[in-house]
Amino acid sequence: MTKLFGTNGIRGIVNEEMNCDLALGIGKAWGTYLKKTNNRPKVAIGTDARLSNHMLKNAISAGLLATGCDVVDVGMVPTPTLQYVVKEKDFESGVIITSSHNPPEFNGIKGIAADGTEFSKDIEEEIEKIYFEQSYVLAGWKDVGSFSTWDGAIDLYINGILNAVDVELIKEKQYHVVLDCGNGAGCPVTPILLEKLGCKITKLYCEPDGTFPGHNSEPLPENLADLIKKVPEVSADLGAAQDGDADRAIFVDEKGNYIWGDKSLALCAKFAVIQKNGGIAVTPVTTSSCFDDVVLKNGGEVIHTMVGSPIVARVMIDKNSVFGGEENGGLIFPEMQYCRDSAMSIAKIMEIMAKNNKTLSELIDTIPKYEVHKTKMPCPNDKKEIVMETLAEQTKDDSSVLEVDETDGVKLYLNDGWVLMRPSGTEPIFRVYAESKDKSRAEEIALTYKKMAEEIINQN
Ligand code: MG
Repeated sequence: MTKLFGTNGIRGIVNEEMNCDLALGIGKAWGTYLKKTNNRPKVAIGTDARLSNHMLKNAISAGLLATGCDVVDVGMVPTPTLQYVVKEKDFESGVIITSSHNPPEFNGIKGIAADGTEFSKDIEEEIEKIYFEQSYVLAGWKDVGSFSTWDGAIDLYINGILNAVDVELIKEKQYHVVLDCGNGAGCPVTPILLEKLGCKITKLYCEPDGTFPGHNSEPLPENLADLIKKVPEVSADLGAAQDGDADRAIFVDEKGNYIWGDKSLALCAKFAVIQKNGGIAVTPVTTSSCFDDVVLKNGGEVIHTMVGSPIVARVMIDKNSVFGGEENGGLIFPEMQYCRDSAMSIAKIMEIMAKNNKTLSELIDTIPKYEVHKTKMPCPNDKKEIVMETLAEQTKDDSSVLEVDETDGVKLYLNDGWVLMRPSGTEPIFRVYAESKDKSRAEEIALTYKKMAEEIINQN
């Protein structure tokens, strides 16, 4: 069976792999799945700012309606806004039409469960199975679903954030923020939120436009050149950028320094643990040790998970965690909801600045610095398992290896850093991540274990 759902829902180029027929079929399969446990499921649907959104929204809605689901269209919203609506308004499911940070020719479909979290692999597999078998169960003519629109999603979401942060404290500071929505789904939401937090706003690319005229919607340094330049130019307190569907946020400090996502992640983890006098912070095995350092130092505990934000969110719920997230700017605040939330991240970063009466650069300076070396190596798919097993086995007796973690690939903790060999799910390669305080040492660690893996491939 071909897989439809990847790590982030279904994605593809519009009118090639991502077309109306697929969306209609997925809608029918989704509805058939929901109807198994609910007589009249209510599904919220929203989109990002892409040009093909209406085409896909209407096709998937038609499928859902045909199976007897009621569909409520909440319009153009960030992914976390739709997630919040599903959770707060008791929808059985949510559909977000988005392809996140991908180029404009892409679009996609992502599923949200009743609790507002992203679909688990199990749910996706059930929907895929119905789709490929075409075992749709359509409603009788009297029972097809109803379609309506609701324009309350953005207010509900903004109020949710305002209830989860110290609004008065942030307002007092009258922060000047340069906001770069990247012409994406953050446009209708984030400027309003910042106004309510008493901020002065300098806007960059805050008009929704699915051609992404401002810049590519992945918030990498090369795409945020205008933001990086603007923050010191207008003497702002910080810069904030959102990706295409506004689930991830990236920050620029008052001096115009781009802050990598591992730093903002660690900063929020640190203050979550301080505020709650300890607690569990959750992040994938790929995250920098600066996260572990600040959490442990402040009396918290760290749980490392497999890569993927739905997995992080699920572990956070199960362990009653105080904070979690990924180092790509996807931060999860349980006081709001269990999903990556960029607008909440922006409000929270300002709250941390205000509470500590410090600039963003001063706060980031408190986060330990590590050097990362990333590389990859070819490995036939059928040898990935043996490489990981042998690496784990061989290094168990190696005195320089302090711990072997097999959560996702093989991660070896050394006394001066770590290395992670992680098999790609789609390509015949291993991704190799190594980290140390020293740049050349990080590279040396990566090369040493890459070589060891190559020898294992040759011997097997
Ligand atoms: Mg995204």
